[in-house]
Amino acid sequence: MLARYAVKESDCIGRQYQEPCPKYRSEFQRDRDRIIHSSAFRRLEYKTQVFVHPSGDMFRTRLTHTLEVTQIGRTVARALQVNEDLTEAICLAHDLGHAPFGHAGQDALNHCMSAYGGFEHNLHSLRLVDHLETGYHHFNGLNLMYETREGILKHCSKRNAKKLGKIGERFLNNQNPSIEAQIANIADEIAYTHHDLDDGIRARILKPEMFFSVDLFKEVYQIAQKQTGSSSIRTLRHEIKRRLIDIVVTDLIENSRSRIEHTDPKRIDDLRQTTNPMIGYSHVTAQQNLALKKLLNKHLYRFHEVNRMAFWASRIIKELFSAFMDSPDLLPEHIQQRITKHDLASRAQHVSDYIAGMTDRYAMLEHGKVFGPNHRSRDPDLYSHMEDK
Ligand code: MG
Repeated sequence: MLARYAVKESDCIGRQYQEPCPKYRSEFQRDRDRIIHSSAFRRLEYKTQVFVHPSGDMFRTRLTHTLEVTQIGRTVARALQVNEDLTEAICLAHDLGHAPFGHAGQDALNHCMSAYGGFEHNLHSLRLVDHLETGYHHFNGLNLMYETREGILKHCSKRNAKKLGKIGERFLNNQNPSIEAQIANIADEIAYTHHDLDDGIRARILKPEMFFSVDLFKEVYQIAQKQTGSSSIRTLRHEIKRRLIDIVVTDLIENSRSRIEHTDPKRIDDLRQTTNPMIGYSHVTAQQNLALKKLLNKHLYRFHEVNRMAFWASRIIKELFSAFMDSPDLLPEHIQQRITKHDLASRAQHVSDYIAGMTDRYAMLEHGKVFGPNHRSRDPDLYSHMEDK
């Protein structure tokens, strides 16, 4: 039932190390299972999305974000008759390489690694599934299908793309990945925009009125308010979020379908050679979505308490990185053994891998152990007043 432009196992590039076909699963179901069983996947539970892990049990973590991305991705893939198993695998793996403390952690690690090629979380996700995950006797990493790896590498700088061979070529030629990878990319954006809005209102940083300049939001708010009547803010908030996601996802499916019909790709390679993505919103929804994101940026991502959290998180990462670079003997033995003596670039790469793999709470613990209790960064009690109302 797959469309002719979908990724099909029969014409896949496949795995680096040949393996017998799975008996009861598709190749992409096997990738999905390997991703779920990886240690990097389990660590997503304790990594920040916007709010630092211990801020409150109700806020999204990178794990719940990943699950929301995956359910949106699967819905779109199924509606467009492309490979749902592949979309699911890409969505589940898309944030595996995120450093602790969300974007603040990523920026701090990128700053620390600036003399050694920087740190890009998409590239680190690929590094994890290609090299760093252990547990398979015959190979390092998870030996995933090329098509899954292509989707995991959502962004990549041209400088790093040049070092990656075939998988980096599309960033040098401004070409697109498979439709399944394009779906995972937009599913990520839909999930974080709407759950950050939801979490921001829950945290009482955001108020619905802040978004009334966005027509779509105002319309949805008024309908939801009328229907929920005197129900709690929790119900209203949920009604707004679910209605917005439904409208945006429906628009995405219908607009993408007409783009595909207009382009009429015969094979997946026709898609890879296009410069315009097949998956995208209509012009009106794209504009509304952009306006919503700008307001989130203004009112949530730059809120002073979120800035303080980012400042504090950045300090933890930078101090740990400096300490481990100056004194590698502070690192756990198994990491010290991997470092080539007198090779600073190798040392930096292993320190970066170690820090990127940390959860928020593990990074806080390590910081306390290295710098002692008097220098221990305080617990993130910034949101302790924010109860779930
Ligand atoms: Mg994401």
